[in-house]
Amino acid sequence: MLQMPIRTNKESQNKQNDLNINQSQTKKSQISSKAKLTSRNYYSNRMDWQYESPTWFKKFMACEAEALAEMKGEWKPKRDPTALLVGNYLHSYFQSRYAHRKFKAQHPEIISTRGATKGQLKKEYQMADAMIKTLRTDPMFKEFYQGKKEVIVRGEIGGVMWKGKLDCLPTNHKYFADLKTTMGINKRFYLPDERRYGSFIEAYNYSLQMAVYQELVRQQYGVQAVPVIIAVSKQDPPDKAAVSIPQDLLDYWLERVKELQPRIEAVKNGQEKPHRCEHCEYCRATKHLQQIISLYDLIE
Ligand SMILES: [Zn+2]
Repeated sequence: MLQMPIRTNKESQNKQNDLNINQSQTKKSQISSKAKLTSRNYYSNRMDWQYESPTWFKKFMACEAEALAEMKGEWKPKRDPTALLVGNYLHSYFQSRYAHRKFKAQHPEIISTRGATKGQLKKEYQMADAMIKTLRTDPMFKEFYQGKKEVIVRGEIGGVMWKGKLDCLPTNHKYFADLKTTMGINKRFYLPDERRYGSFIEAYNYSLQMAVYQELVRQQYGVQAVPVIIAVSKQDPPDKAAVSIPQDLLDYWLERVKELQPRIEAVKNGQEKPHRCEHCEYCRATKHLQQIISLYDLIE
């Protein structure tokens, strides 16, 4: 088991900003055999089976049984799509004018059909507009968020093909930016695995995602790019921050992925039976009582 580096100060920032360019490590030869990933098929079930991705990997880490059932199309979580749609609404704006228009045309449900707000954007999307505004009028953001948008990257990690989509990759490839919406930038989230509180970045394990993206960029472009999370909060008015992740934490998560991956692959290939977490939506819906447990086992 690897020891997770925990940093609470800015001691590793200098190291992180010292960009390491290593052209010889490009592995273009390894990323040619699979079907071509495009923006059209990126989120398709076929591509999800062909390529591992941070989103699915995190789902398997949370509950193998639920993730496998969802991937096989046997189970669909009932989660409210609004949070995801608000995120997509914001992303589409910063992708291009065309993408934002298309998103709005494809999602008429973002417009209110009842009450005093009839015909206007629903309040969640009005909030998203405020989140967009706070970024687009910010001088540092404007300068920083320049380059190619929605850049698909792929590569091989621990013998498995992975895919990723970068929100923004500048032409110098020195960093890449990822937009994240959150309830509160400084909000504390309980991390049950570590029995402590952490930020939204830790709670949603964005460090794993950024570690994988950094590795895919390294393989594709031969440079070590610095991931920067552009966080914007769903508050009125919205808060914002540009957040870095210490390189040793990124290194830790890349190694952790390699450590956990063989088991997840075996579950996906049907060689291992998926573990049930017994707490998620899927496990609750399919649970049978099997034993009597102690009251001390009720709280994580
Ligand atoms: Zn579960």
